[in-house]
Amino acid sequence: MKKIKNVTFIGMGLINSSLARSLKKKKFYEHSVAVSRRKSTIEKIKKLQIVDKVESDYKKAVENADLIIIGIPVNAYERVLKKISNNLKPEAIVTDVGSVKQSIVKLLRNKLPDNLIFVPGHPIAGTENSGPESGFDGLFRNGWCILTPENNCNKNAVELVKKMWTTVGMKVDVMDSHHHDMVLAITSHIPHIIAYSIVGTVSSLEKSLKKEVIKYAASGFRDFTRIAASDPVMWRDILLMNKDSILKMLKIFKNDLKQLENAINNRDGSYLHKLFSRTRKIRKDVIK
Ligand code: NAP
Repeated sequence: MKKIKNVTFIGMGLINSSLARSLKKKKFYEHSVAVSRRKSTIEKIKKLQIVDKVESDYKKAVENADLIIIGIPVNAYERVLKKISNNLKPEAIVTDVGSVKQSIVKLLRNKLPDNLIFVPGHPIAGTENSGPESGFDGLFRNGWCILTPENNCNKNAVELVKKMWTTVGMKVDVMDSHHHDMVLAITSHIPHIIAYSIVGTVSSLEKSLKKEVIKYAASGFRDFTRIAASDPVMWRDILLMNKDSILKMLKIFKNDLKQLENAINNRDGSYLHKLFSRTRKIRKDVIK
């Protein structure tokens, strides 16, 4: 596979700026451009010197690009893709890093030009921080990236996007976008819902009890506050755009929670012990 000449990053937040840092270090491309909306972000990107050129004009930013990587909130894709799709080189490959995949595949099927070469992707990596200054080389090392190309997607484009992620240390899986959204609903989206909800409850209790609940919170709660500090716009979009899968998984989760409540109510220690032993084993398998 020959070396990529021009890469354009649309959006330069935590994910794309981490990718830009790692790809630059690996000399994956010859020249890179970043485009961002706000002046303040553009200034930050210039100072960081992680790309060769920074643009505010989306059309100009993509006209010479061989590979375009979209790293903005999923809700903003349609507007940006409509803006750039007529300015792309015919052989240009577009990919993305968005956390929800079915809505993007639907957008491609129904609202964008048929000849657009788009390989949907989602690197499972991140932190609670945002913006170009929070990115770092190494974010993707040893993680998984999921690609959800349609059956008719250009095979060379899929191979190139796979190569990009393996270059920065990720293992790559290819799956159907519906399956991706169901898996991510339970492993990522519902844990975020729980964190947002429990931190919200504790902060309201603090007001009503007039007690310093947060001050004395121990490590379990601290972990929730880290997750609940994630970007509000990004998470609003993820939850709304993965509504169907999240609602299905929430139903299963609420049923399991009810069983746990019943076990406590019935003093069913055996149920609790069995469940906690099973979950402890899962932790050991996850952190090897
Ligand atoms: P981020 O740090 O908040 O950066 C967002 C970027 O998108 C900024 O460059 C911002 O530019 C731009 N942007 C925001 N709203 C926009 C809009 N309406 N139109 C055009 N550009 C807009 O975000 P991130 O964490 O890198 O996330 C980017 C994507 O990666 C999201 O789709 C998210 O689902 C996905 N993702 C995130 C994580 C994670 O843990 N954070 C993990 C995997 C995947 P300006 O500042 O100039 O507005």
